[in-house]
Amino acid sequence: MEIEFIGAARTVTGSQHLLYVNGKKILLDCGLYQGRRKEAFEINRTFKFSPTEIDALILSHAHIDHSGKIPNLVKNGFSGPIYATAATVDLCQIMLRDSAHLQERDVYVVNKIRKRQKKNLFEPLYELEDVEKAMDNFIGVQYNRSTEIFPGINLIYRDAGHILGSASILLEIDEGNNKKIRFGFTGDIGRPFMPVIKSPDLLRDLDIIIMESTYGNRLHPVTEEAEEELAVVVKQTYENGGKIIIPAFAVGRTQLLVYELHKLFNENRIPEIPIYVDSPLAVNATNIFRSHPECLDRETYRVFIQNDEDPFGFKRLKYITTVDQSKELNEKHEPMIIISASGMAEGGRILHHLANNIGNPKTLVLFVGYAAEHTLARRIMDGAESVNILGQEHKVKSKVKTMDYFSAHADQKELIDYLRLNPTNKLQNVFLVHGEEEQALPLKERLKSKGYRNVHYPASGQKFTA
Ligand SMILES: [Zn+2]
Repeated sequence: MEIEFIGAARTVTGSQHLLYVNGKKILLDCGLYQGRRKEAFEINRTFKFSPTEIDALILSHAHIDHSGKIPNLVKNGFSGPIYATAATVDLCQIMLRDSAHLQERDVYVVNKIRKRQKKNLFEPLYELEDVEKAMDNFIGVQYNRSTEIFPGINLIYRDAGHILGSASILLEIDEGNNKKIRFGFTGDIGRPFMPVIKSPDLLRDLDIIIMESTYGNRLHPVTEEAEEELAVVVKQTYENGGKIIIPAFAVGRTQLLVYELHKLFNENRIPEIPIYVDSPLAVNATNIFRSHPECLDRETYRVFIQNDEDPFGFKRLKYITTVDQSKELNEKHEPMIIISASGMAEGGRILHHLANNIGNPKTLVLFVGYAAEHTLARRIMDGAESVNILGQEHKVKSKVKTMDYFSAHADQKELIDYLRLNPTNKLQNVFLVHGEEEQALPLKERLKSKGYRNVHYPASGQKFTA
């Protein structure tokens, strides 16, 4: 068995790992790279392998940095099965379509400039029809069931507790001659005991693992502290008469935030402040939560399924789906919370809200997830004095705050705990991916000190034989 690291290697986006096993080529994830615009454009248009030679794709979850390049893979000749959990299939339907819209808009902007420069024009990375074609290849798989995807290769999905439908991948591989390998790929690992979805289910007794390391050098605060911090910033911004702008994707983080805010209202810890979830996907997403009870934690299940209430639809909350409604928000000057995508602020309606509000000292821009290097979100988080949004320079005068607690990623302690059912004398190799150096390297040292012998931090293009 051989592993080739391609994307999310020494970085956090563009997840893609290639397995050569029993004469088959199996791709794990096929995500879009997000970072410097020009670089991203190049990386996302090309493949480091021939898509026609891939026998199957196994997808961990629907986030675009894991799934967003799939339509391009199919467009370039891949015709094999795409395995995913049932909820991931449903989410990919809406997320990949949304991504196609963004691709078309992006290339429109690039082409406008190239036209002026008399250069030849680009085609979009993919279009809606490529998404529809790709969706035909998806095969929904249940959690915890073993599926023989090729002779001697069984696939089992475990709940990763990261977003709705997210999974860690276990492959039970029989290479013949009594050589058996238990191989794991964590995908993105969620946090235990967070509301809405279930806690991560652990991969155990592995020989090899590819593991994410987004927050490999971070410890998230405890629940009570994080809730209090959120209550304080909401109250302060409300009293100053400002808006709170939160970049977050419509699926996952948004529902968690809405759930937390609902709780704070009910406990009278924050004032009456309207919340707008500005996303064409928001309503769809709520329906997808409702149709996947297998992913919900007990409390959310009770509210949603047994009592037929909507935990994401309380009365202060408005879902904005049309562009006109979205623009109307700019005309309103009273305090409000606006949650809008994308989380890394690399596209979507959040750009307009940032452009309109980032120059106002009363505004609070609140980040609740990880942002990759060179993305707009990261530049604002890191304290840039001015930023370019939609081609215009804007001074950052708003307050800026980052709250890791609401992240959908495990912290260092939770990542180490995740391995606890893997004895150090059995687990031969740990490969850390999906993490920048300052996060992954300290985790590597911690894992070594716990007795894991071979902990690697592979670069893109590196291959390992097991
Ligand atoms: Zn993710």
